[in-house]
Amino acid sequence: MHQIKLLHSSVPTCVNTLISMRKIVLLFSLLLGCIGKQYAQSPVDIHGNLQVSGNQILNQYGEAVSLAGMSMFWSNTNWGGEAYYTSEVVDWLVEDWGITVIRAAMGVEASGGYIWDASNKDRVKLIVEEAIAKGIYVIIDWHSHHAEDYEDEAIAFFEEMATLYGEYPNVIYEIYNEPVQISWPDIIKPYAEQVIDAIRQIDEDNLIVVGNPTWSQDVDVVSWDPIVDEINIAYSLHFYAATHGQYLRDKAQVALDNGIALFVTEWGTVSANGDGQVNEFEVNAWMDFLCENGISHCNWSVNDKLEGASILVDGASTTGGWTEADYTPSGLLVKDIIQDWCLSVDLNNENQSMEYQIFPSPVADEVYIHGEGIERIRVIDLSGQVLLNQAVTPNQRTVHLDVQAYRPGLYIIELHHKYRTYTKKMIKQ
Ligand code: MG
Repeated sequence: MHQIKLLHSSVPTCVNTLISMRKIVLLFSLLLGCIGKQYAQSPVDIHGNLQVSGNQILNQYGEAVSLAGMSMFWSNTNWGGEAYYTSEVVDWLVEDWGITVIRAAMGVEASGGYIWDASNKDRVKLIVEEAIAKGIYVIIDWHSHHAEDYEDEAIAFFEEMATLYGEYPNVIYEIYNEPVQISWPDIIKPYAEQVIDAIRQIDEDNLIVVGNPTWSQDVDVVSWDPIVDEINIAYSLHFYAATHGQYLRDKAQVALDNGIALFVTEWGTVSANGDGQVNEFEVNAWMDFLCENGISHCNWSVNDKLEGASILVDGASTTGGWTEADYTPSGLLVKDIIQDWCLSVDLNNENQSMEYQIFPSPVADEVYIHGEGIERIRVIDLSGQVLLNQAVTPNQRTVHLDVQAYRPGLYIIELHHKYRTYTKKMIKQ
């Protein structure tokens, strides 16, 4: 569904003479963008409070929403990844990648973590506050493998976070990143119920995401014995594409069929140890699964550590502004996935997989939409105004739209098929 390969095509040599003109246009566009921003609606303006209903996470209008974004690396002091906990990194990921969610992964019991160094909390707060300022969702992640040993600390921490940020629809609490292979009913669930209860005393409504056994893979186990009598609870599903394939999607499907909502708060393109080669085939299978089921996701991770999962090469700037040379193979792949992500899918219609591409992304003057069976295309701005409503000639596989006159910002493209409507975002430079 998401498309990857076409997005890296280089600028044709014949347009060299146009490049300086394009720069002028780009500068002018950026200027217009600055003027226009005060009117633009952010993802949180659009979607508002997230609400769990059955196995779906819905926006304020009751529509299934699928957020796409990045996870920060462990926040731990002197681990390296904490250098990227900057407001400029958040801004860059919002403005260049079009992320709609970011995850602050606060290390807890490991060396340099929150238990040992309270400055980890300041890193988290910086990310949360910048995410709120930019109008995206933000996950406050208790990034632990043994949270049941630090329950008092977790409760105190989340009480503080709920007090500071519970009024903002942006905030999502992730109370236990990845339990190891321990009991759901005897250890994790009781821990979760205590922490949830503490949060709900202060913040009665924001989404809470709960980890589960085997590094948040046993969502099927949870679905047989979910937390009851609490609202807005979803469960984490973590996967690494080079390690976890169809068998884990099957477990996720069991969980969905049993009626619990899932949120992929962490996934990798590589092996489960965070290293190795990108497995693009399995990434594509996973992304199709997430899009089809309206599941949100954050990729691991924003860092320049020398391992496959990092999106950045060693020494990349800690203030954003990254170019293609700054990205790893994983970073390039994930950037394209996020830039081209389906915001929401009409899940009520016939479940029919469709392949289509919208490129380039971000778009300057012209956008191409390629796919089969598209009957109508609509372009809508974030105030809900329909800017274009165009029938597509039967059997026409590529549609070209001139969007030169559009203001810089985020637009919604609806692709109407016979049985189904896909909603995609378009970032106009
Ligand atoms: Mg609240």
